[in-house]
Amino acid sequence: MIPVNEPLVGSAETEYVLEALKTGWISSEGKYIRAFEELFAQKCGRKHGIAVNNGTSALIAALRALRLPAGSEVILPSFTIISCALACIYNNLVPVFVDSDARTWNMNPDQVEACITPKTKAVMAVHIYGLPAEMAKIEEICTRNNLILVEDFAEAIGSVYRGRKCGSFGTLSCASFYANKVITTGEGGMVLTDDDELAARLRSVRNLCFLPERRFVHEELGYNFRMTNIQAAIGLGQTERLEEHVEKKIRMGELYNRLLAPLMERGLLQLPPVQPGLINTYWMYGLVLKGPLSAAECMKRLGEAGIGTRPFFFPLHAQPAFEQFSWHKKQSLPVSENLYRMGFYLPSGLTLTDAQIQESAEKLTLVLSAA
Ligand SMILES: *Cc1c(COP(=O)(O)O)cnc(C)c1O
Repeated sequence: MIPVNEPLVGSAETEYVLEALKTGWISSEGKYIRAFEELFAQKCGRKHGIAVNNGTSALIAALRALRLPAGSEVILPSFTIISCALACIYNNLVPVFVDSDARTWNMNPDQVEACITPKTKAVMAVHIYGLPAEMAKIEEICTRNNLILVEDFAEAIGSVYRGRKCGSFGTLSCASFYANKVITTGEGGMVLTDDDELAARLRSVRNLCFLPERRFVHEELGYNFRMTNIQAAIGLGQTERLEEHVEKKIRMGELYNRLLAPLMERGLLQLPPVQPGLINTYWMYGLVLKGPLSAAECMKRLGEAGIGTRPFFFPLHAQPAFEQFSWHKKQSLPVSENLYRMGFYLPSGLTLTDAQIQESAEKLTLVLSAA
């Protein structure tokens, strides 16, 4: 079976982890935390990095640090991971879902504008599968309407939007270092910001909001979202080779593009979006079928042929877990719904060989040609 993802771990990671273990700095203090935070923030073009235990925590901490009034609305794409909506809900904020653009799979800025109400306080922009969202338009909408921009670049570490790095947009940017991300700490995440006060708040939220001057007295509710020095040791080694990982992802994506172009020309599928001025890092190499097979049927046949795949996101506006909330409304967001029905991704891990990519593309060609 060709796996959908395997992490690429180098010798620096092993060396740093062993050092952390041997010196006894195995919990959330130790030199690798700051070193990782500083190097990652610097490579993304940000002043501060606050490492946390996963990407979902990064989003929760980011929205907590903003101290928005309860009931404030946050506009975000329906086509993303549930973490984005959970971060709103766990902070007593209301997620407002917008549809994607069918060409880019990213949030449609025109719909963002249409969803703004007096309660709207923030927009969460999410870059999907490695392609930057339409940040110029989203930034302009936020500025004009006095909204805070939060960026989720978990899937776009290393991606570039018109010369600007993903992770450097808006007030706060959130990353994940889960095992399938462009760089990994096994489990982990980070919030980036240029704002000194927000950075201090995030460090406090991450560590149970202990008061430095009166330990065990708490004036605010925090979380234990601390990252361990062992995870940060892995993260530092990975960040040192970030550019290498990004280049490899791009090469893999471009190879898939060449191999699958004939299927696109036959009108059988849509390949990952390419947009002038935007660097797509192909975090996951996604496809959208144009029929007759559904994504589920195609993934089943590819599985039988030894090719690992994963479905696209199930749209957040249709999540059963959200029906319990008073803000929930029945919505139809046809682009997101179609992406779920017809989209999936092929093996995309950093350890893949060209031969495995070729085999995956051949098997997909066979499956679609037979249908
Ligand atoms: C992976 C991911 C997250 C969450 O990360 P975890 O580390 O798994 O909690 C958040 N947002 C997006 C867009 C992601 O892809």
